Amino acid sequence: MTNSEQDRWTRVKGRLRSSVGDDVYSSWFARMDLESVQQESVRLSVPTTFLKSWIQAHYAERVLSCFQAEMPEVHRIDLTVRSAARALVQPKEPPQLLDARRPERPDGRAAVEARMPAATPVSTSHDALGGSPLDPRLTFASFVVGRSNTLAHAAARQVAEGRRGDPVMFNPLYIHAGVGLGKTHLLQAVTWAGNAAGERKVLYLTAEKFMYGFVAALKTQTALAFKEALRGIDVLVIDDLQFLQGKSTQAEFCHTLNALIDAGRQVVIAADRPPSDLESLDDRVRSRLAGGLVVEMGTLGEELRLGILRSRVAAARVHHASFEVPEAVLDYLARSITHNGRDLEGAINRLLAHSKLNAQPVTLEMAEREVRDLIRPQEPKRIKIEDIQRVVARQYNVSRSDLLSSRRTANVVRPRQVAMYLAKTLTLRSLPEIGRRFGGRDHTTVLHAVRKIEALVAKDTALSEEVESLKRQLQE
Ligand code: ADP
Ligand code: MG
Repeated sequence: MTNSEQDRWTRVKGRLRSSVGDDVYSSWFARMDLESVQQESVRLSVPTTFLKSWIQAHYAERVLSCFQAEMPEVHRIDLTVRSAARALVQPKEPPQLLDARRPERPDGRAAVEARMPAATPVSTSHDALGGSPLDPRLTFASFVVGRSNTLAHAAARQVAEGRRGDPVMFNPLYIHAGVGLGKTHLLQAVTWAGNAAGERKVLYLTAEKFMYGFVAALKTQTALAFKEALRGIDVLVIDDLQFLQGKSTQAEFCHTLNALIDAGRQVVIAADRPPSDLESLDDRVRSRLAGGLVVEMGTLGEELRLGILRSRVAAARVHHASFEVPEAVLDYLARSITHNGRDLEGAINRLLAHSKLNAQPVTLEMAEREVRDLIRPQEPKRIKIEDIQRVVARQYNVSRSDLLSSRRTANVVRPRQVAMYLAKTLTLRSLPEIGRRFGGRDHTTVLHAVRKIEALVAKDTALSEEVESLKRQLQE
């Protein structure tokens, strides 16, 4: 390659970067190399079939026009995959800085044209794109709306009702909540409703499925079929994101996320914690996740629990018309099973099984006996330091890692002291242990925090109320 080709290539990359933005550029183009220029055709290479497919699907024209701006004679771009052998023996190159000059390459390194026969087997990618199984009962019709989930429900509905080509209002939509509070139900409802409308394809994947199926398929050679299939997805729904692990999986997830969002496709995510607490994810992914709409679903209030029980009974009655649960029993269950939607479901299933097997009507006495083990003992809940950190971080709108960090700005120092104070008063942990759990601090620091907050609480009513409210949230 001549020096002037090298210069022009550098300028083409510069144009591309400013046209797509830094984020997209480094996700997709940082490892794209110029292999050769021959009259009106240019040959470029990337290290994986996945990158090749995405660039072809989404950026082919953009790349061509950046070339034409520098070399008007160019009319054709051939994008190829650098051979696996070469990728294996050569260490990965760092992303090229725009003005970096590289020595010319020996010719022997020319790229190998990726072979994509029309008859590529579709099955692997197809299976991966089949998504995770859906439960037909988890629809909007059976989802009960209450105070703790109004916003999440409204956002999910909005997403489900979108049409192809509509502007995407919040992307990604990120829903977080503890176990059994309805995340999976809501996500599957979006999937059912979206697919039922017929116009858009909505794909539901658990993070595990994403890891083992999706990423595997991305790496296989069936990229063409896969690209087509992926291109057909309008809404990607990922459940239990907290289980997404491993550097390369996360890198692929990051690519997928960026690509879909940049292409105006909707992404919906659920996890058991906010993006800022997904500690194993890298900062760029976290900030991308936090850049959409982040909604928390709170604990199920008594009214909502009652609603869920009613909805479950109604569903059971479709197949078991004689199944009846007296109001008093529903009340009892709603009051005593307090934490988890799964236990509510379990309770109704047991009553149903019992009344069927014994051909007996459901009574309060029977209910008390059948669901005894689902009822939490009334002994005070054991509070964990992580819970304290989570609740305090949420209250003061900082991240858990801020609390553990060495940052000393006022907006972090006070919440950190409050959290240490709560750790000392609500758990049996020693001062050194608490110090250790707060980013390796000395026990005297913890002691200082505890004294400080004790003193403040005594004279500052606002703070004292805040602390009381935090205690209530933790003891709930
Ligand atoms: P998560 O995924 O957050 O752990 P799930 O979505 O699996 O929770 O919910 C657990 C159970 O509670 C399911 O049976 C679900 O149908 C039920 N459930 C939770 N919230 C609601 C709700 N708002 N309306 C109806 N059922 C709900
Ligand atoms: Mg779930």
